[in-house]
Amino acid sequence: MPDDATLAIDGGTPIRTKPFPSVSDAAGRRLGDEELAALERVIRSGQLNSTIGGETRSFEAEFAEYYGVAHAVASSSGTAALHLAVAAVNPEPGDEIITTGLSDAGTVLPILAQNAVPVFADVDPATGNLDVDSVRERITSRTRAIIAVHLFGQPAPVAELRALADERGIVLIEDCAQAYLTRCAPDGALAGTVGHIGCFSLQQSKHITAGDGGLTIGNDDALLRRARLFADKAWPRDTDERTHLFLGLNYRMTELQAAVARAQLPKLADIVAGRRATAETLTKALAQWPGLEPGLDEGATYWLFPVFVDARTAGADAHRYAAALTAEGIPANGGYIRLPLYLTPVLAERHTYGESNYPLTSPPADAVPRYERGLCPNTETLIGERMFVLGWNENFSDDDVADIVAAFDKVSTALRAR
Ligand SMILES: *Cc1c(COP(=O)(O)O)cnc(C)c1O
Repeated sequence: MPDDATLAIDGGTPIRTKPFPSVSDAAGRRLGDEELAALERVIRSGQLNSTIGGETRSFEAEFAEYYGVAHAVASSSGTAALHLAVAAVNPEPGDEIITTGLSDAGTVLPILAQNAVPVFADVDPATGNLDVDSVRERITSRTRAIIAVHLFGQPAPVAELRALADERGIVLIEDCAQAYLTRCAPDGALAGTVGHIGCFSLQQSKHITAGDGGLTIGNDDALLRRARLFADKAWPRDTDERTHLFLGLNYRMTELQAAVARAQLPKLADIVAGRRATAETLTKALAQWPGLEPGLDEGATYWLFPVFVDARTAGADAHRYAAALTAEGIPANGGYIRLPLYLTPVLAERHTYGESNYPLTSPPADAVPRYERGLCPNTETLIGERMFVLGWNENFSDDDVADIVAAFDKVSTALRAR
């Protein structure tokens, strides 16, 4: 007979059967009367497009003020927001942009879409964020920009990266899709305001949402002007001329998205405070289980809650922990992504434009980039064995967190006893 200590993965009774509030359902979202009223306002106005209505322009102004920056440009997704940023940098085909292989593909695909070459630097094994020394080693005469991701809402070392970028005359783009209100060392600056350009996502799973949507922010007039034009066919609507100044697409946010996003923004601080409060309980509890470390807490806003596993003392690796916790009713994801981005087919097999492999060819690149195992050892070890992530939510109750702690205790005890 299984007793209470038998892991659910081995046929025991799970700690929890009730689902947690999650970003995929109403119980884990702050969507309500404010968003409904905003949508009704837009529908009744008859103006659903941002080139006519005022919602998107107002949302941009409100977001820029919230972040204390000169410019915010709204777009259709976080990937679009990053594409605007890369297009603003305007690389020559084959120029290089350094980034991380431990992220959403939306970080990297815009680099290729602008015919630049993604170059992957390795990450800090304690956080999964870019390692500054690795970035420095990868800079060449063709490097035009760095895209730093604040992974899971933990602050990336952007002050150091900004200093490095300034020293080399390149642009620092911050991918803040997972990092609303993240605070960065050394002075608590908001993530997205330390680099030249900050990018945000309003996709369903992020801290605030409009289903999809994106924002590109910054203080540099020329960069943000180019980003705005790129999102709207490079049509300078502030002049009377119907013309197209360069190759741009239509990445405009709709008035419906903007109306919902405007209603979400005032809720953001409370959402982040809620996530931080419950994360603190688990962070403290983690100290009692050998071989399990939380990520960075200082300044973090917990898009997900990462756990870093030392299998020698924890009794099993991150994937085994994730499977055991999931069986106990605590959904956990070993590795976060299955493969470093450079091992996915679009890069590893260079599936880009027709059969050309362009721009991952020489020319335009100086050398054909090699995306292969071993390129970023820390990234590969985190994904393969050392890291798992838990969904996190502002609507977790104390009982929800107590169940998570109980499951960790049960799983850690059992796996270490083997
Ligand atoms: C979600 C995400 C993106 C892409 O955003 P979309 O809105 O889904 O296009 C980019 N980077 C990171 C780190 C993300 O988490």
